[in-house]
Amino acid sequence: MNRLLLVCRWVLSPLVWSSLRSRTLGIMICVCAALVGTEIWQLWRVYDDNIRQNEIIASNTAQSLAGQAENTLKTADTIVASLVERVEAEGTGPEAKSRLYHLMTSLAAALPAIHEMGIMDRNGDAVVKSLVANPAGLNYAEREYYRHHRTHDDRLPYIGERITSKIDGAQSITVTRRYNNPDGSFGGVVVTSVSLAFFQQMFDRMQAKSGGAISLLADDGAILAHSPALPKGAGQVAGELRQHLRDHPDGGSLGYRSGLDGVKRHGSYQHLSHFPLTTLVSQSDWDIQAPWRAELEWHGIILCCVVIVVIGLGGRAITATNMLEAQALQDSLTGLANRRCFDGRIERETQRAARSGQPVSVIMIDIDHFKDFNDCFGHPAGDECLRMVARAIQGCLRRKGEFAARYGGEEFAVLVAGCDGRHAAALAETMLAAVRGLALRQAGHLDDVVTFSAGVATYLPGRDASDARALVERADAALYAAKAAGRNRVATAGSLAASPPHETAELVSLPSAA
Ligand code: GH3
Ligand code: MG
Ligand code: MG
Repeated sequence: MNRLLLVCRWVLSPLVWSSLRSRTLGIMICVCAALVGTEIWQLWRVYDDNIRQNEIIASNTAQSLAGQAENTLKTADTIVASLVERVEAEGTGPEAKSRLYHLMTSLAAALPAIHEMGIMDRNGDAVVKSLVANPAGLNYAEREYYRHHRTHDDRLPYIGERITSKIDGAQSITVTRRYNNPDGSFGGVVVTSVSLAFFQQMFDRMQAKSGGAISLLADDGAILAHSPALPKGAGQVAGELRQHLRDHPDGGSLGYRSGLDGVKRHGSYQHLSHFPLTTLVSQSDWDIQAPWRAELEWHGIILCCVVIVVIGLGGRAITATNMLEAQALQDSLTGLANRRCFDGRIERETQRAARSGQPVSVIMIDIDHFKDFNDCFGHPAGDECLRMVARAIQGCLRRKGEFAARYGGEEFAVLVAGCDGRHAAALAETMLAAVRGLALRQAGHLDDVVTFSAGVATYLPGRDASDARALVERADAALYAAKAAGRNRVATAGSLAASPPHETAELVSLPSAA
């Protein structure tokens, strides 16, 4: 709990301690990041949900198709098994052959999945074929299923590889069993071929509803049927899908890049329980995410609008903050920095001086007999006088470390960083000369020109304590020494000896209020 509080404090501390502008910027970035983050998270969930939903549908379809394929092949095997029994019981004499032929043709006609049925003898010669009344001359000894049964004496059904019919060229897969002679020797093979066109049509109907692709795969990776039809006919499963089917043959779902068209797909597959075949239902990622893309478009537009509004409002808030901050640190009458700004600056400069060992000086300036000026010429003229004096003081600043502020009323303060007291005193003399050079008529004092008195104090790191307030107090004391010495001069703290008064210039008058 304590650790959580510490983390929260650490996260929020920039907001608490930073400037108003940084805070506004921080809040704006947080709001935008929160909006974008929430949106990305939401869209990612929709994206992921789409894939999960598709997986469920594809998996159900693959299982349903596997069930139908299983039933078709079981029916074919049941026919094969009953024909085997019959051949073994009745033989393949002329009468039996005729009965078998009629039985086989009527079964083939009744079952659309069955392309043809046949019985061949121990040499592979066709004895009965459902597609032709007289199969004389047809030999199937080279067929893979024939070679299998001749060399295996088990009575189990065998699912052979894809074959092309010697009679009509149709593609099919075969369900076969061997039959034996009465002495138990190899008598021949009964074959029922299941039309691949039947699967193709079944898949086409399903594919038209669901989109995507549906395939019937042999365990060796051969694609027996595929919807939509493959341009180059049936091919072979390759790449990561092939590997996955090998590693997890029973069924499952996976994302893969298709070896056929290079498209990224998500697929679910189901292996048949009793036959070496698998149904695969897949959909391209692009199609799966079509609704998501539409949603992304809208969300993107709305999010962009919201972010633009937030940035716009934040930008205006920052501009307003900048103005407020500038106003808070500037004197509105003279345009110089104000007392608050000066206080912050002198604090920083004395600390920097303490670190760098460089001296810092302060010049405190107070216009002489300014009350009389106001009384004589009026406050508007007094204001104008303050503006002109401020400009004259500012105009004397040349170096980077020199900084002038209106300290209050008719008082100014100048900070001189990185120079000794002599340079600061010389700068004060230059400023006094510049103000006198304005030749603003004064009301019945001294030589009748607006002048000021100034006090200079210097902080020498290593000798004085780094105390900004003490530095200002010393400059102030020097200023009062200059006043006491007769005004219109500069006094330096330490010696507190004031310079001689300045000479009179040609006079000008500011417009009076009256
Ligand atoms: P001293 O030589 O001893 O400094 O005499 P002084 O008259 O300048 O000093 P005093 O403190 O008596 O008077 C300062 C005057 O400055 C009083 C006030 O009316 C005037 N003053 C202060 N701020 C402003 C301002 O913003 N505008 C104008 N016009 N006058 C101001
Ligand atoms: Mg004063
Ligand atoms: Mg004064």
